[in-house]
Amino acid sequence: MTNSRILVIGAGLAGSEASWFLASRGVSVVLAEVKTLKLNPAQKNPDFAELVCTNSLKSLDPDSAHGLLKTEMRAMGSIVLAVADETAVPAGDALAVDRALFSKAMTDRLRTHPLIKVIDVEASDPLEMMRELECSHCIIATGPLTTSPLESWMVNNLGAEDIYFYDAIAPVVDADTLDYSKLYYKDRHKQPDERADYLNAPMNKEQYDAFITELAKAEKVPPKDFEDWKFFESCLPIDLMAERGIETARYSCMKPIGLELPDGSEPWAVVQLRKENLQGAAFNLVGFQTRLTYKEQVRVFRMIPGLEDASFIHLGSCHRNSFLNSKRLLNSSMTSLKFPEISFAGQITGVEGYTESAAMGLYVASQLMRRLQNLPELSWPKELAIGALVNYVMTIEKPTPSNINFGLLPTIELTKEQRKSGPRKKVRKSFAAKRAREVFEVFKTQL
Ligand SMILES: Cc1cc2nc3c(=O)[nH]c(=O)nc-3n(C[C@H](O)[C@H](O)[C@H](O)COP(=O)(O)OP(=O)(O)OC[C@H]3O[C@@H](n4cnc5c(N)ncnc54)[C@H](O)[C@@H]3O)c2cc1C
Repeated sequence: MTNSRILVIGAGLAGSEASWFLASRGVSVVLAEVKTLKLNPAQKNPDFAELVCTNSLKSLDPDSAHGLLKTEMRAMGSIVLAVADETAVPAGDALAVDRALFSKAMTDRLRTHPLIKVIDVEASDPLEMMRELECSHCIIATGPLTTSPLESWMVNNLGAEDIYFYDAIAPVVDADTLDYSKLYYKDRHKQPDERADYLNAPMNKEQYDAFITELAKAEKVPPKDFEDWKFFESCLPIDLMAERGIETARYSCMKPIGLELPDGSEPWAVVQLRKENLQGAAFNLVGFQTRLTYKEQVRVFRMIPGLEDASFIHLGSCHRNSFLNSKRLLNSSMTSLKFPEISFAGQITGVEGYTESAAMGLYVASQLMRRLQNLPELSWPKELAIGALVNYVMTIEKPTPSNINFGLLPTIELTKEQRKSGPRKKVRKSFAAKRAREVFEVFKTQL
């Protein structure tokens, strides 16, 4: 047993999990939370682990990516899932909760745990706090709306270029649902016979004009009052480009230059699709960050040739979100390379969603626990949901927070027989889920 005292900053999904995990294993925790002093504009009450939007923790189906994540979290003693089970409301195969009861129960458990001392404070300098509170390590789990004093500390001490405050996400499509007869591989300015990474959807003038017109008039999500839309000119939402003029996108992310068709002619405009993961199971629409409502995105983006029947793994959005370039700032235990006594957990590491953030709280606490016990870091296989999330944030070229989905897991190559057994996408997912369960059966003995 260790005598260390750990400072956890932020009693959201990740910080609550991390605190509970450590305290349940005999480690003293100081849990610092600002909510009783001031709420951020997305929060409504001072209770911990607040679900600020939907009350759903997503699917319970063991064959779904969220189902896999839950299995792994339960094996680690997740308090979020235990309390969610107790406060669940009927929601088909999803785990949805009474949000007020859920947060209240989480708060009661954490505030009354004998090894957790809650302090109501707005953190600004974690190093100074650790000294004052005599803590050996710190986990920062302050989430997408980390308050500005701590954000400033991160910028000044970790480097502004690897910290993002604003998230503009482009949609991601399932590779199995594209019509490849309308698409072609070619990288800009490379010869047609050279190996290419980009898949291109060409448009003629008529298709382009109709597409831009629909983009400009489609319904957008209005900014919340705490989100002041300020866009970098180099990263404008595609719909804002459309509003600026019919030609704007054709001189930006849809420019056709260097993307000749296989017959050598140049299309009027092009939508480029880039592999979302090494396996090529999903593609993102390059430069298509957008403010369109989800419904409108599906309608308008299915106008792109080859995407008429596309299934979207996730849709685009623009919102306030503080997160790190984990690959450059952290090691795979989510510990700072510069400050080895500080780790990060939750959405701030580059995942997205309640359950994913909670899972990253468990993961980080479990790695820290091993450190306190002088055990080496435990490497999570990529075939597992938690392993896939860690692998994602540690390898993604351009950090973009992601939910758990099968596109993050290594692709399953199907045999001829397996391909015949049902729709390819469904069969692949079911085999990936089966593989994850088998890998986890062996792996969990190390937890
Ligand atoms: C507007 C909005 C809507 C969302 N909708 C959904 C959704 O529908 N479904 C979904 O799955 N996910 C949604 N998310 C994402 C979801 O909020 C996060 O994924 C999840 O809550 C992140 O968990 P976390 O523990 O990393 O951070 P949080 O749950 O945000 O917890 C961070 C905690 O740190 C505290 N804190 C911040 N700064 C400081 C400081 N300086 N000192 C002390 N404490 C501090 C905060 O008060 C908060 O309690 C939404 C996010 C936002 C902002």
